Amino acid sequence: MQHMCVTGATSGIGRGIAQQAAAAKMGLTITGLEAEADIAPLIAALTEAGAAFVHYYQVDLSDGDVARQMVSAAADKAGQLDILVNNAGIQHVAPVESFPVAQWDKVIAVNLSAAFHTTAIAVPLMRQAGFGRIINIASVHGLVASVQKAAYVAAKHGIIGLTKTVALEIAEANMTCNAICPGWVRTPLVEAQIEAKAQASGLTVEEQAKQLVTEKQPKPDFATPEQIGDMVLYLASDAAKMVNGASFTIDGGWSAQ
Ligand code: NAD
Repeated sequence: MQHMCVTGATSGIGRGIAQQAAAAKMGLTITGLEAEADIAPLIAALTEAGAAFVHYYQVDLSDGDVARQMVSAAADKAGQLDILVNNAGIQHVAPVESFPVAQWDKVIAVNLSAAFHTTAIAVPLMRQAGFGRIINIASVHGLVASVQKAAYVAAKHGIIGLTKTVALEIAEANMTCNAICPGWVRTPLVEAQIEAKAQASGLTVEEQAKQLVTEKQPKPDFATPEQIGDMVLYLASDAAKMVNGASFTIDGGWSAQ
């Protein structure tokens, strides 16, 4: 039985990853900002879906020390750490000249620095165990830019660089580090953007969602969190043993243009 730790698994993509890992009978550590009592139904659903265990940590990963302590505690409690999925992320949209400094710092802290801190603790544990998979949920914005997303695009380009560096440093062990780059996935993070744009444009939320997707993606559909979860399971599998330092788009052709 493998133990997967997924950050930011109380919502959206992280939740979909946890769902697919539970169906694969893995043990799970999940993290989020919510109180444990509030995510009792999620823990019950993951257990019902087949998770060997579900451990929850309510942690704000914008604090690097907290991120480090969480990984140590999670590995100690489970007795091992096989797969680390750095998924927690936030967005803030504003032009660069008026981008709030506090939001810049927070986006970089959660979307990039947290993965550095968790990885720094996970690598020696995995090296000692002789196995490890680190999977970073980047974004198509790790490969291309969009206006008004300076911090997010910088963080996502950064995490692809982090992925490649870690991949080189662990290459000789039975360990890999890879990134997944989703396009649009309709999660609360994206719903907030759709609603803000709909208010400005006067379109209905559904009309705006369609416009948002087709503006960037040749495929006019949102990807699902479970589809991202399936790619995570592939990267964690023996079949992907030689896949290292790679970035996989699941973006409906967005970055192919
Ligand atoms: P979401 O808002 O649905 O979920 C975000 C998760 O991160 C939640 O569990 C939340 O509790 C956690 N989180 C937020 N701030 C945190 C903090 N300070 N400390 C700890 N945890 C925190 O978002 P999502 O769309 O599922 O995004 C998940 C990841 O996927 C992010 O890294 C995001 O950048 C990336 N992504 C999303 C899309 C998309 O279209 N939704 C596309 C590409 C990449």
